[in-house]
Amino acid sequence: MAKTLLLLGGGHAHLPVLANLSGYRRAGISVTVAAPRYFWYSGMGPGMLGGMYSRTEATIDLADMVLKGSGVFYDDAAVAIDPFSKTVTLAGGEVLHFDAASINIGSGISLRAIPGMEYAASVKPVANLYRLHEQLDIVRPAELTAVVIGGGLAGIETAANLAGLLKELRCRWSCFLVLNGSEPAPGFPAGFRRRARRKLKRLGVTIISNATAIDISPESVLLNNGDRLESQLTLAATGVRPPDILAESGICVDDQGAILVGDTLQSVSHPFIFGGGDCINMADAPIARAGVHAVRQGSILRHNLSAFLSDRPLRTYRPPKKILLIANMGDRTGLANWGAITFAGPAAFWLKGWLDRRFMRRYVSK
Ligand SMILES: Cc1cc2nc3c(=O)[nH]c(=O)nc-3n(C[C@H](O)[C@H](O)[C@H](O)COP(=O)(O)OP(=O)(O)OC[C@H]3O[C@@H](n4cnc5c(N)ncnc54)[C@H](O)[C@@H]3O)c2cc1C
Repeated sequence: MAKTLLLLGGGHAHLPVLANLSGYRRAGISVTVAAPRYFWYSGMGPGMLGGMYSRTEATIDLADMVLKGSGVFYDDAAVAIDPFSKTVTLAGGEVLHFDAASINIGSGISLRAIPGMEYAASVKPVANLYRLHEQLDIVRPAELTAVVIGGGLAGIETAANLAGLLKELRCRWSCFLVLNGSEPAPGFPAGFRRRARRKLKRLGVTIISNATAIDISPESVLLNNGDRLESQLTLAATGVRPPDILAESGICVDDQGAILVGDTLQSVSHPFIFGGGDCINMADAPIARAGVHAVRQGSILRHNLSAFLSDRPLRTYRPPKKILLIANMGDRTGLANWGAITFAGPAAFWLKGWLDRRFMRRYVSK
């Protein structure tokens, strides 16, 4: 009897698997996929906000991909995972059984992170950035004050692209980027942090350092130093964590709720469950949440899921020591980091665009 592989979520790490469904079928494995229908490429998210990329350029129709590979597709999200009965329950009530499963459901911004968070737009899911572009393009405000909370790469790119869009819309605007540390991009080399600060200033973004947002209202953001920033548009880029259903499932997770996996990307507690992307962490060598890891894990998952169900040897994921990260700064320049090397300008932007389009080309015609 055919073995059933269930793929939960259609993120970056599952794309190589989805592109190879006919190979699974030939190996006698039937594949069911449960995920919201469209994949949104995070690398193009800030560019969608800025207006550089269209929805078509940055999304992939997963249903189409799965049906072409003769898999079964549910356009739905999981609400419960039971590793003991090997079942997943979908929001629509469907219960799916599996012999092996792979989980790639990403991460999101906690709505409980700051009181009043419901008045902020979140940078995750990435589709929000596209919707925000659409809204601003329709409304075309004459004046706008915006606050972006969080000074990591996502916050920097969001503030920069928002600034770019508002300039293009000829709006009278101001944009504040609230950091709870002294510099944007903590964890990056000093040269990157310096350039990020300088560039944001040049773009007209006001950086508020060493401040934490403690309350958000429809008109303002209150900081822990007592200041209240007027804000008609508040964006939260306050750090992400995996969905709660993982911790609730009984699968072994880390302190953030990410599934703990070994180097074969198998859960340390339930080896018939694999995972990739932001919703996992490696038990022996914790890794950052970056699309780059998710993408690289995808090719390991493509092999291992089939190998596991056919009793063949598995491959291991070795996180690269350095990863290339390039921020889109909203004015056709980029800010790049690779290990100790930092570079900025139109060449960095061109390289990012080239890498991002090459990534999407791999999948759009499958
Ligand atoms: C603004 C921004 C810019 C970024 N830029 C970069 C960058 O340039 N480079 C980089 O390396 N990283 C970047 N990142 C980080 C990057 O977005 C993540 O690391 C990456 O998206 C992780 O990919 P993933 O495959 O784990 O999840 P995702 O690509 O987010 O996919 C998860 C999928 O699971 C689905 N899903 C969610 N819940 C369920 C459920 N319950 N059931 C079924 N399906 C579900 C979602 O719909 C989604 O399609 C950026 C992040 C942000 C917010």
